[in-house]
Amino acid sequence: MRLQGKIALVTGGARGIGLAIAKAFVAEGATPVIADINEQGAREALGTLGASDGLALAVNVADEASVHGMVQAIVDRYGRVDILVNNAGIGGNTPFLDITLEEWNRTISINLTGAFLVAQACAREMVKRRSGKIINIASLSGQRGGHGRAAYGAAKAGLELLTKVMAVELAEFGINVNNIAPGAIETEMAKFAHDQATRAAYNYLIPMTRYGTPEEIADAAVFLSSDESRYIHGHTLNVDGGFRAAGLMFRGDKAAPAS
Ligand code: NAD
Repeated sequence: MRLQGKIALVTGGARGIGLAIAKAFVAEGATPVIADINEQGAREALGTLGASDGLALAVNVADEASVHGMVQAIVDRYGRVDILVNNAGIGGNTPFLDITLEEWNRTISINLTGAFLVAQACAREMVKRRSGKIINIASLSGQRGGHGRAAYGAAKAGLELLTKVMAVELAEFGINVNNIAPGAIETEMAKFAHDQATRAAYNYLIPMTRYGTPEEIADAAVFLSSDESRYIHGHTLNVDGGFRAAGLMFRGDKAAPAS
């Protein structure tokens, strides 16, 4: 058990990647805290984990008071936060020419400002114990210019840089900070954002020719939360089936995706 006795907060843990991470954490002996804007979903998710202990909390990561209330509730119950996975996020596919300021601000406030607020509040607790692990869930959309990804991609690119700054400033307090950048992962978010043509295009462009699973992100999160990753710091671990590595994906005998 690599995370025995650790108090592990996963934001946006009611479903998808966050829920898979919480499950994997429990399997490694951690006590899960699932915090989500969907309170009922967080409670139900916690119930599916079979953990002997744990918390389900309501939070809006974009709201400072809500974030502080969440962290206080964890500290009141357990006295500390050992692991934070900043996973809560929303998608978005609006073309650059059409995106409204409202959508831009909403995306940045949840995907970037939200991660900042939660990380800062948790880090302020972690410094007291001079120990902690923070994992930010970024995205390949923060590294490549995907169509319709103006706000989402800018937020995720900002999160990658924020991670580096946090790594630089928090190292002296024994806090280890890294990113995971998922590629296309089979979740509700992807079902909503990717139509059939998009899915075919991804399957062609990804060298492993398939979407990833939430469990494949969870495996990376366990590694980055464990002592095995102690000298990996300020790093972005792409979990993307080779999508970022690939250049021209002409495969000769294989048909290009349907247009
Ligand atoms: P999802 O939509 O299935 O789950 C996201 C969760 O976050 C939901 O439970 C939702 O209620 C919660 N949430 C949304 N806004 C919130 C807020 N303001 N405060 C608290 N909780 C909130 O999404 P997913 O596919 O599991 O994605 C999880 C993370 O992984 C996101 O940060 C996403 O950007 C990132 N990601 C996903 C993919 C993918 O292909 N699915 C790819 C790259 C990155």
